Amino acid sequence: MSKTIEQQIEDLRNVLHKHNYEYYVLDKTTISDFEFDALLKELQTLESAHPEYADVNSPTQKVGGMVTKNFETVVHKNRMYSLDNSYSKEDLLDWEKRISKIIEGEITYTCELKYDGASINLTYENGVLVKAVTRGDGVQGDDVTHNVKTIKSLPLKLQGNFVDNFEIRGEIVLPLDGFKKMNEAREAAGEETYKNPRNTASGSLKLQDSAEVAKRPLDCLLYQVLTYENEFESHAQALEKARSVGFKVPDTLSVANSIDEVLAFVNYWDKERFNLPYETDGIVVKVNNIRQQEELGYTAKSPRWAIAYKFKAEQVSTRLNSIDYQVGRTGAITPVANLEPVQLAGTTVKRASLHNADQIALHDIRVGDEVYVEKGGEIIPKIVGVDLSQRPSDSLETIYATHCPVCSTPLERKEGDAKHYCPNEYGCAPQVTGKIVHFISRKAMDIDGLGAETVELLCKEGLIENYADLYALTVAKVVPLERMAEKSANNMIAGIEASKQIPFEKVLYALGIRYVGETVAKKLAKAFKNIDALFEADLETLIAVDEIGDRIAESIIAFRNEPLNQVLITRLKDYGLQFSLSEEDLQNQTETLAGKTFVVSGVFHKVSRNELKKLIEDNGGKVSSSISKKTDFIVAGDNMGPAKLQKATDLGISIISEDDFLGMV
Ligand code: AMP
Ligand code: ZN
Repeated sequence: MSKTIEQQIEDLRNVLHKHNYEYYVLDKTTISDFEFDALLKELQTLESAHPEYADVNSPTQKVGGMVTKNFETVVHKNRMYSLDNSYSKEDLLDWEKRISKIIEGEITYTCELKYDGASINLTYENGVLVKAVTRGDGVQGDDVTHNVKTIKSLPLKLQGNFVDNFEIRGEIVLPLDGFKKMNEAREAAGEETYKNPRNTASGSLKLQDSAEVAKRPLDCLLYQVLTYENEFESHAQALEKARSVGFKVPDTLSVANSIDEVLAFVNYWDKERFNLPYETDGIVVKVNNIRQQEELGYTAKSPRWAIAYKFKAEQVSTRLNSIDYQVGRTGAITPVANLEPVQLAGTTVKRASLHNADQIALHDIRVGDEVYVEKGGEIIPKIVGVDLSQRPSDSLETIYATHCPVCSTPLERKEGDAKHYCPNEYGCAPQVTGKIVHFISRKAMDIDGLGAETVELLCKEGLIENYADLYALTVAKVVPLERMAEKSANNMIAGIEASKQIPFEKVLYALGIRYVGETVAKKLAKAFKNIDALFEADLETLIAVDEIGDRIAESIIAFRNEPLNQVLITRLKDYGLQFSLSEEDLQNQTETLAGKTFVVSGVFHKVSRNELKKLIEDNGGKVSSSISKKTDFIVAGDNMGPAKLQKATDLGISIISEDDFLGMV
């Protein structure tokens, strides 16, 4: 009996999935390129003749071809944390001491390499990939599913049984070999080469045309499985199981039974790392047992159950040719060294940060010196010292800039500040544009269709001088600009118009009041409810607000006392921006839970974990990530870990259900 078309398609897909896996994950060649392409063509032909059997996870998706204009923002179900760093054996021993105080019993560790690329959160449902989201700010990222699907080593469909619904995290890296080839091709075409594999990997994820992404030799290395029903005992077990269903979990992963074994792993890879096919800047050590992980919990930034060990940076020496001074958004001056180009950690280095005047004086760094350059995690390398034996006899001590390189205003340096500042806040070009760029940024007014380059252009052309001017722009005014198509002009004006609905707390953050970051803006919005009340408040009233200190209060007062700001705010109000909390927010905000600290644990049914946390905060309560004596309530969903439960019981903390909690508010 001959196969049905559907069966034929299905079989081809399975064969191709398998070959992809063998070639890109196992590194085994089981079929020639020619045969592979022939099978793929056959599948493509069948699929286009029979769209009724379409499958978004077919191996044909790896070729790409989907175009994404704007990447949708997605809130992570589980926040993507950073990792604490350590730099020495002592740091690791201290960490072990800290965690041993919290958990009882034996601890085993996993050691993994710290892959240097772009982190990604993948969601699988019933064995197929449904979503890929970048880390973003950890709370929310961009949906880059179409692009990620083109990564050859990533399974779109799992082989064999795993958990039904789960998330898995990994790092998208560009292996060194592929990176080199890409640059050779660019050089041959007379194009500028890419700076380093990490940035090229993360840049690739944001390309609009997934067919372009498909051409890049990206790889996806997995390092964490998140499930909802406690399916796994240990981190290593979860990863090994993930590997068995097709994920590329590097086999450098190793379990250590003691910190000494961890140190042995560190020592081994400190030397061996240069022989890896991709870049690594350290090791990640994790507590292996998942219950113990839960027990340790998280700080505001990172899990307590993991720590990164950073390898010592590579160092080279080269000549310092000259020093430039750059002006940032806040007016801060950064001295930058122009170097004789030199190879360092796989990239060509031409510039390095000198940080500030003290750093230069400390090392007595002079133009003409042979300097030591080091590259850590940051993109810009830094100068860490001078080879005095090579100093030219006519060398002159560096005299730090006295005037702003852009507007020539004399620089100032406040006591206690490491940096010099250009005080010409409202007249110095980079500060003026910087304020506007901050205003439109994602966490602030989130204006679609307008980016930093356009802001610079608009300023240069004299169309805007401050953020209020944005609201006076029209399509007719911006269309004549160079490279401004009618469509982009429309998008930009629509984006500006839409920003009038952005909630007060974000507007407050967008204003760019020094020291008023996102969190502080939220606090202030909640405490004062509208801008008039905030700007009428005196120092005492301001510092009476929880977590608002002198420094922030003084900065708010200085901002509102500046006549120019008063004009700007009046104009923004007239344009219709939100300068008070919405009715809805006001209604939802109570002080019912004031003074109470909550820990949220497990899976919920009526509201998501994030909604739950917001409800706590909206009602005046505090959310903490780990259980301690200060915890008042634990809101327990399904599958709260037994270790947490034990700890809560030991400390006599009330454990309440989702319903109990909803009853409270
Ligand atoms: P950092 O950005 O320095 O705080 O480090 C946290 C990041 O390290 C995570 O977002 C991951 O993208 C990345 N990372 C790389 N390799 C690993 C690994 N083996 N385990 C956990 N995180 C890793
Ligand atoms: Zn200036």
